[in-house]
Amino acid sequence: MSMYDYIEEIRKCNPEIRLDIGQPDLPVDNRIIEATVEALRAGKTRYTSAYGIIELRQALAEKHHVPVDQVMITIGGKFPIYAALELCKKALVIHPGWPAYEENLIALKKPYKAIHTTFEDSFVPSFEILDKSFDLVLTNYPNNPTGAILPRAKMRELVELCNDYHVMLLADEIYYFLTYNEFVSFQDLNCENLIYIGSFSKGFSMTGYRVGYVISNPEIINAIYDFQVHTVTCPVEFAQCAALKALTMEEDISQKARKVYIERKRVAEKALRDIGLEFIPCQGTFYEFPRISVNTNVFCEELLKKGVSVIPGTFFGDYPDHFRLSLVSDRMEEAILRMGEVLEKIKK
Ligand code: PMP
Repeated sequence: MSMYDYIEEIRKCNPEIRLDIGQPDLPVDNRIIEATVEALRAGKTRYTSAYGIIELRQALAEKHHVPVDQVMITIGGKFPIYAALELCKKALVIHPGWPAYEENLIALKKPYKAIHTTFEDSFVPSFEILDKSFDLVLTNYPNNPTGAILPRAKMRELVELCNDYHVMLLADEIYYFLTYNEFVSFQDLNCENLIYIGSFSKGFSMTGYRVGYVISNPEIINAIYDFQVHTVTCPVEFAQCAALKALTMEEDISQKARKVYIERKRVAEKALRDIGLEFIPCQGTFYEFPRISVNTNVFCEELLKKGVSVIPGTFFGDYPDHFRLSLVSDRMEEAILRMGEVLEKIKK
C-alpha cells in the first residue's frame, strides 16, 4: 500500500484530529483569494506557455538571483520531481524520506539505492555509497518527515561529491520558509548540476492551486518543459496570477505562519516529552518523527480508533518504531494525550 492509499483509508474514517497529511490548516491569505478572483474576472482562464507566465518566472528569477531562462513554473513541486526521476538512470534517496520519491522510482522502473539514517545519528546521512554509477541524488531539507536540516559541512561534502562524479543534485526545498534554526540553501553552495524545487503549496497554504517551480540549467529546464507540455500542457493561469501576488507578500505571510507553527511545536514537544516519547525536535517543517517502543502499524491503527490520524514510520523507510505527526491542528496537546493512552494500552 502506498502512503496515498493509506491517506485515502484515513479519509474514509474521517478522524476527529487529522495529523497525517502535510496539508497546512491555515487558510489561504485573503489577499491571495482576492487576486485569484480578480484574475478569473480578468479572463486569466487560458492556456499559458508551458514554461509558465513570464511575470511569475521573472519574479522568481529575481528572488533566487538566476536568469529567467533557468526558471520554469510547474504543476506543484511534485511534477518536476517526477520529470527529473524520469530523466535519470540511477538515483540515490535518503531515508527517512518523502515516500513519493521512491513510489515514483518504482513506478518508472528506475534503479535506485537508499541511504538509511538513524535516530542516534540525528538522521544525518553518510554519503559513502555515492559513486559514478548514480546520476541523481534526491535531497529534501528541511526534511519531511524528520524536520531535520543537513549540517553545512555535510552539504558541502555532498556538493563536492556530486561535482566530482557529475551527478545531478535535486534539492527539494519546498519547506525552506519554515525553519527554526539557521538554514542554508543548496543554491548557495556552487553545485554544478542542481535541480532546485520550490512550491507555493506549504508556505502559502496553496496546496490546491498546484503551483510549483523548478530552477536548473536550460538543458534540464527544456527537458522538463517537454514533459509538462506533452502531459498537462501548462500550469493553471489564474493560479499563477495568484502565486505572483503571494510572492509580493511572502515575508508577511511566512512570518505569520512561522509564529503559529512555533507555538504548536512548543506545545507538541512538551506533550510528547510528558508521555515519555523520544524525538529529535524538528529544525524546520511542520513534522515531528517520534520514536515508540511498539509496532508503528499497531500504534497508528489503535490511535485512529481514538480519532487521531498519523502516518506509520514504515512509509518513510525501515522505521517500524517511528511515526510522523503533522503540526497542522490547534489540538496538539489533546491528540498527544490520546497517543499516550494508546501506548499504555498496547504495552499492557
Ligand atoms: N516535496 C516534499 C518533501 C513534499 O512533502 C511535498 C508535498 N507533500 C512535495 C514535494 C510536493 O508538493 P506540491 O506538489 O504540492 O508542491
